Amino acid sequence: MAKRDYYEVLGLDKGADEAAIKKAYRKLAMKYHPDRNPGDKEAEEKFKEINEAYEVLSDANKRARYDQFGHAGVGGNGQGGFEGFSGFGGFDDIFGDIFDMFGGGFGSSRRRSGPQKGADLKYEFTITFEEAAFGADKEINITRHENCDKCHGTGAKAGTAKKTCPQCNGTGEIRYAQRTPLGQFVNVKTCDVCHGEGTIIEQSCEKCKGSGKIKRDRKIHIKIPAGVDNGSVIPLRGEGEPGIKGGPAGDLYIVIRVRPHEIFQRDGNDVLCEIPITFVQAALGDELIVPTLDGKVKYKIPEGTQSGTIFRLKGKGIPNIRGYGRGDHYVKVVVEVPKKLNEKQKELLRKFADEMGEDVHEQRKTFFDKVKDVFGI
Ligand SMILES: [Zn+2]
Ligand SMILES: [Zn+2]
Repeated sequence: MAKRDYYEVLGLDKGADEAAIKKAYRKLAMKYHPDRNPGDKEAEEKFKEINEAYEVLSDANKRARYDQFGHAGVGGNGQGGFEGFSGFGGFDDIFGDIFDMFGGGFGSSRRRSGPQKGADLKYEFTITFEEAAFGADKEINITRHENCDKCHGTGAKAGTAKKTCPQCNGTGEIRYAQRTPLGQFVNVKTCDVCHGEGTIIEQSCEKCKGSGKIKRDRKIHIKIPAGVDNGSVIPLRGEGEPGIKGGPAGDLYIVIRVRPHEIFQRDGNDVLCEIPITFVQAALGDELIVPTLDGKVKYKIPEGTQSGTIFRLKGKGIPNIRGYGRGDHYVKVVVEVPKKLNEKQKELLRKFADEMGEDVHEQRKTFFDKVKDVFGI
């Protein structure tokens, strides 16, 4: 079954802002939630679809990829996709909002104390015009933190254990009462001794000085798909900074920069190039050698080709990133007027002009007829 457009699933316009996306999602998620529709297969499917759409549209990175590449950009249909889905998303947002309504604190401290995903990394990578067109296998060198191999990320010296934080008794948070004009509130803040971990290290690991993390240089292999463009993003799951408290590692986002080409320009999947030709070639027609991404191609221009004429070489452009078809190659021929002529050449041109007579230049004649009409001379 073909996947529905994510905006359509949530009943939104392409330009919908974050708040609108969240609102639409919450409304639909409430309606189709399995708890409210027990045994209803159709509602269950709808609920999955809504969650999938929300996971993508609520994430600025994923949304940008979806807008650019469609389902393929977010691994939606497996066709040239970059990654799979991690599962349902969005529940945290609903609960988070409810907690926030009750005065913040609770919601955020609840989240802070659990495992957290590591930070995402961004890496700008410059490739050539041809590599963008046909894809490439590349290796990049990045410096990132990884869990210390000596203490396995705990930060504690080998043979020693972590101990419960005496300040918060292992809860990772400090509660204190606050009087306000509206009554007494219990506030919760992260423990500043253990930074919310609930445990502290007695003896630090010598290698990482207790941080549990060390900096490492890593070579990472990236497969650049054919058809990427300047600004395309390739996500590499789990190649970012390590997670906190056993959480998953962050992601690495490769942002593609494409170096400008000497003679080709790009417009979507089409390639444009300009070729200078002589007046004689334009007048008599000729077989041109046209450079394309696939190499040199012969192309016949007809007699009487005008300067600025654009010819299309179908299917010689850039492959579609979703794996089907290619753009076209456009050639614009521009007649070069000779600048330095010797006396003999000038004489030949004068003779040529005599031979032509003025009325042969139809466009020119029409133009001067119009001038006469306008100025009366
Ligand atoms: Zn503590
Ligand atoms: Zn260590």
